Amino acid sequence: ARAAAMPILAGLNPEQLAAVTLPPEHALILAGAGSGKTRVLTTRIAWLLQTGQISPGGILAVTFTNKAAKEMLTRLTAMLPLNARGMWIGTFHGLCNRLLRAHYKLANLPQAFQILDTQDQLSAIKRLYKQHNVDDERFPAKQMQWFIAGCKEDGERPGDVAVHDADSRRKVEIYQLYEEQCQREGVVDFGELMLRSYELLRDNDAVRDHYRRRFRHVLIDEFQDTNRLQYAWVKMIVGLPGEGGGAVMAVGDDDQSIYAFRGARVGNMADFVREFHVQHQIKLEQNYRSHSNILDSANALIAHNTKRLGKSLRTDQGAGEPVRVYEAPSDFAEAEWVVDEMRQLVKGEGMARKEIAVLYRSNAQSRVLETQLFNAGVPYRVYGGLRFFERAEVKHALAYLRLLENPRDDTSFLRVVNFPPRGIGARSIEQLQDAARAAGTALADAVASVPGKAGANLAAFVARIDVLREQTEGQTLREIIERMLDDSGLLEHYRAERDGADRVENLQELVNAAESFVTQEGFGRDAVALPVDETAALTQSPASQGLDPNAPLLNEPIAAPPGVVDEDTGETLSPLAAFLTHAALEAGDNQAQAGQDAVQLMTVHASKGLEFDAVFITGLEEGLFPHENSLSDFEGLEEERRLMYVAITRARQRLYLCHAQTRLLHGQTRYNVRSRFLEELPEGALKWLTPRQGGFASIAAAQSGGHRARPAWGNSAIYPDMVASAPLPPRKAEPEHGIRTGAKVFHNKFGEGQVMAVEGSGDDARAQVNFPRHGLKWLALAVAKLTVVE
Ligand code: ATP
Ligand code: MG
Repeated sequence: ARAAAMPILAGLNPEQLAAVTLPPEHALILAGAGSGKTRVLTTRIAWLLQTGQISPGGILAVTFTNKAAKEMLTRLTAMLPLNARGMWIGTFHGLCNRLLRAHYKLANLPQAFQILDTQDQLSAIKRLYKQHNVDDERFPAKQMQWFIAGCKEDGERPGDVAVHDADSRRKVEIYQLYEEQCQREGVVDFGELMLRSYELLRDNDAVRDHYRRRFRHVLIDEFQDTNRLQYAWVKMIVGLPGEGGGAVMAVGDDDQSIYAFRGARVGNMADFVREFHVQHQIKLEQNYRSHSNILDSANALIAHNTKRLGKSLRTDQGAGEPVRVYEAPSDFAEAEWVVDEMRQLVKGEGMARKEIAVLYRSNAQSRVLETQLFNAGVPYRVYGGLRFFERAEVKHALAYLRLLENPRDDTSFLRVVNFPPRGIGARSIEQLQDAARAAGTALADAVASVPGKAGANLAAFVARIDVLREQTEGQTLREIIERMLDDSGLLEHYRAERDGADRVENLQELVNAAESFVTQEGFGRDAVALPVDETAALTQSPASQGLDPNAPLLNEPIAAPPGVVDEDTGETLSPLAAFLTHAALEAGDNQAQAGQDAVQLMTVHASKGLEFDAVFITGLEEGLFPHENSLSDFEGLEEERRLMYVAITRARQRLYLCHAQTRLLHGQTRYNVRSRFLEELPEGALKWLTPRQGGFASIAAAQSGGHRARPAWGNSAIYPDMVASAPLPPRKAEPEHGIRTGAKVFHNKFGEGQVMAVEGSGDDARAQVNFPRHGLKWLALAVAKLTVVE
């Protein structure tokens, strides 16, 4: 009763309250979307802290995204006055990074090790291919990337991988070479973060025991999407019953398991219950998010899946508006309709733009929507598109910064050695790579062995970086970045470019990003490991942690294990290294339009755990959603349906489902049939805005156009993006604008380019043009004055 009187517990239903106030024992909360799982986790942390059962340092909480981690911290600090520093709340990757920073020596890494994002990793593999003459046709680099990630997820080093033929032997050799290259360059990829920290715990008794004693409460959100290695990592850092670790509370929803293609294992839930002798299993059945038309749709849809643990959800919110279904003649028209409806919601009903989300199955779908939103002047944000930290100019700048931290970072070296151009040709770089390989050194250490002018240029480049490193020593992050932008020649280079203004802006934005990184309390340097702080937190008195001094801290005093601090120097990570880590880990979370009220665009995958007042789900077409790569197997189709379940359950008040008869994807027009998922929804919850006819049930009728694109089956099932469809015969009639696919055209701003695709007619006609200097662009032909060159 005393507990229920606490303000943080007010409003919880009996099951939620029971979960929040469970004794410190292992527990699994299995519940559907919007039932308050994440809220239970956050409230439990607050309750544990407020009742003095634990200090912030004793908590380990795993979230699915960086954004979720921030949200959790924000909510906690709003509920309680507390020092967030000691708390380990983050994604698996973020927490592993923190662990490796704190024990970099034991983990055999340089202190300033850098993180390779997926793109960096791919270019590292391609570079290795060149050096070792690997046949890219036989072992496509992308496939190799997935192979390596898969091995790491299974906890397998090259020596552990089973080899059964010449090809698999070669693959393992490449994996081995890749590992050597990363080690030499002091870089780790995402999989390596996990595996290396797992091995660190496995192989160092003192470190492992330390964390097992320290983390009395381990809380994991979205547990259904953990992979094998992540679960093994949890077992390692907590220990099984009898091994002295704390209590695990895992929350999850088997119906929302959507990352099997990336190795997630729903079976981890059953394993957890068995291996940890879980005594508390709680189901939450009240949904607090959605009106019942929306929830009924979700429930009816997911009932079509056979592999389920079985849960039900109810809501007290009332029926609300019906779910609206709309069929558009084209993707273009679909986007127009979405934008119109959105306007209605904002203008007519006063809905905030940030409360409106457009969800799609494949990233490529965002472009048409973006064009429409842009033309209509509606501010929007894209999650997971080309993110700030992934833009070329920003990556160039980061490469310079990484070289300041670590001169042996060959990936960064190659990225900028001749950018801006400084007369170093491909031939000299090859020579340099040969020399470095022969001597077993980093590229920067081998410049002396390249003869002639090129050699001098290379040496000058290395000297320039060295000087910059010396001169910026001890400076603030802002000073370092500003200086780098000048001295590297990057700013000057883009200023001189005719269309470089955007890029210059992005570079300047980098300074802002760094600034806010440093000043943001709790997320700046503190979010990245500061080894000294960690140890200090363990040996300080409870009073100094902003807690009730009478509250029990931990049962036993804990001595710092070897390796937590850099014993020689007591050094902490430099702000620059911390910022670079932040850039690599949080690529998606930086916002060019922070603070602006903007409509949210994202893939369904990226929407997990989020909620919005209104949700549009676009592209509900067979082959797109469900995705064509999944249609061949039953498991794949069930995963697509779970994905649809996730999408539907993001909506609080309004849900719009739309599909288009034709769609242009990857330069090809596809004629699509309405998604089977629409047929699986309860009629009573829907309102068809366009006549309901045809559809999946009558494919033949819908094929009257004659050119239904055939799905291209391939080995790309693991890529969330679309594969191209079979080409259609070219259009016969010459369109009135006279722009044909394949034509060379001239544009006032972008110069000469080649037309890759044309579609629409009259005012709606548009063309996709590839400009050598500017990349692929979509142009409205009524506006862009294109002249045909040949
Ligand atoms: P998902 O499966 O999508 O991650 P979830 O189970 O984690 O959902 P939450 O995001 O925690 O659900 O909660 C959904 C919404 O319901 C949130 O807006 C939350 O604040 C609200 N909510 C949760 N519990 C209650 C409650 N007892 N009373 C009122 N609102 C609640
Ligand atoms: Mg949640």
